[in-house]
Amino acid sequence: MARPSGDACPTTWNASSGVHAKGFHPTVITKDPLPPVVKIDASVNGEAGNGNEKKVKREMVLGRNVHTMSLEIVEPDADDEITGEREAQMASMLARYRKSLLERTKHHLGYPYNLDFDYGALGQLQHFSINNLGDPFIESNYGVHSRQFEGNLHGILVGREVFPDGVLYASHESHYSIFKAARMYRMECVKVNTLVSGEIDCDDFKAKLLCHKDKPAIINVNIGTTVKGAVDDLDMVIKKLEEAGFTHDRFYIHCDGALFGLMMPFVKLAPKVTFKKPIGSVSVSGHKFVGCPMPCGVQITRLDHIKALSSNVEYLASRDATIMGSRNGHAPIFLWYTLNKKGYRGFKKEVQKCVRNAHYLKDRLIAAGIGAMLNELSSTVVFERPQDEEFVRKWQLACQGNIAHVVVMPNITIEKLDVFLNEIVQKRPTWFQDGKHQPPCIASDVGEEHCLCALHK
Ligand SMILES: *Cc1c(COP(=O)(O)O)cnc(C)c1O
Repeated sequence: MARPSGDACPTTWNASSGVHAKGFHPTVITKDPLPPVVKIDASVNGEAGNGNEKKVKREMVLGRNVHTMSLEIVEPDADDEITGEREAQMASMLARYRKSLLERTKHHLGYPYNLDFDYGALGQLQHFSINNLGDPFIESNYGVHSRQFEGNLHGILVGREVFPDGVLYASHESHYSIFKAARMYRMECVKVNTLVSGEIDCDDFKAKLLCHKDKPAIINVNIGTTVKGAVDDLDMVIKKLEEAGFTHDRFYIHCDGALFGLMMPFVKLAPKVTFKKPIGSVSVSGHKFVGCPMPCGVQITRLDHIKALSSNVEYLASRDATIMGSRNGHAPIFLWYTLNKKGYRGFKKEVQKCVRNAHYLKDRLIAAGIGAMLNELSSTVVFERPQDEEFVRKWQLACQGNIAHVVVMPNITIEKLDVFLNEIVQKRPTWFQDGKHQPPCIASDVGEEHCLCALHK
């Protein structure tokens, strides 16, 4: 998932000795990779400071890319040189940004990012440009080789290369990147219904398969949907394919494990996603549960399929089996670092903590009369959408229609949940006190048994 990374360090290139920034000593370990906290200078930006600044109301809806704030363009002087003054200004800007990130992190509930990490030891690598170009199985100049970019775009692409005339099947609650892939690759795409849990409806799946029996099937199976954290029943999907007459050489299954793929192996009695089953690919994200600071992920597929995809890119003297050329080479190092540091047991403990805390949250919401649902194989708690946009924004809750969710990641402690719960319990009555509004019915989203509206409680 090669997205622009922020590591824009000026470096000089020297083929024999590698890449060194001026004045950089490769053996010195950076002790404190964070900028020192600088006193806030209210004159630079009217937002923070001593209270005499204008209050700017920001209308940014999280996750929806609505921006109403714009800044004036400042042209630099023709002979602009970095002066001490500018450096101080930048340091103070960074420090303020860091402070606001700290503040936002305190109330981060709605998005599945584990924000509990410390990569201080990797500070020593930020002086190198580590580009991960071309084929992931062939080493590039820094010896980093792995595949990491939009896992779903790649998984579906591999499926289409294996079956150029295949029909893509994906449930309505699949991540939008699946439908983006369908558009990008101009594939015929059939949307399959879901159960209230958010899982794919296997009966509807079979019915739709039977309508397109003449064409191979490419299926997206969700290992944790974005909104409800639902896990599609992989074994049932395979069974329905077989029942509909699709032999193993006529279907390709991509498993989207972005959210829960690295958590499910640690959940007791959870079904298994394995290449012993007839699947074509699995992808997982590195910046969600695992907690990498930059977007990244891992995609696993069969070597046979990759051969179908590879083209020889001569000037790189390297096979290229990826969509993007350049990819972030720091990301696999961060992944390697955290996987090693936490280990199997560490991950298991974190998964158990997430699931336990998710149950705690769900139980307390229900005890407070707020409709809530938690799927069995999930740490995503879905509940009645708070009727106060300010509250939603503060807690960075992702909302869809009448529901909101909290994705309980390892950094979400019981203490943090208690602060959230106390606040929602205290504020909620004020949302309905005018008598005009009532708690919304969420039965169609989560099922009657999880709804506590006037009709269903
Ligand atoms: C977040 C998410 C994705 C996207 O993964 P990225 O690694 O962020 O590109 C795909 N599918 C599901 C279910 C997700 O939750």
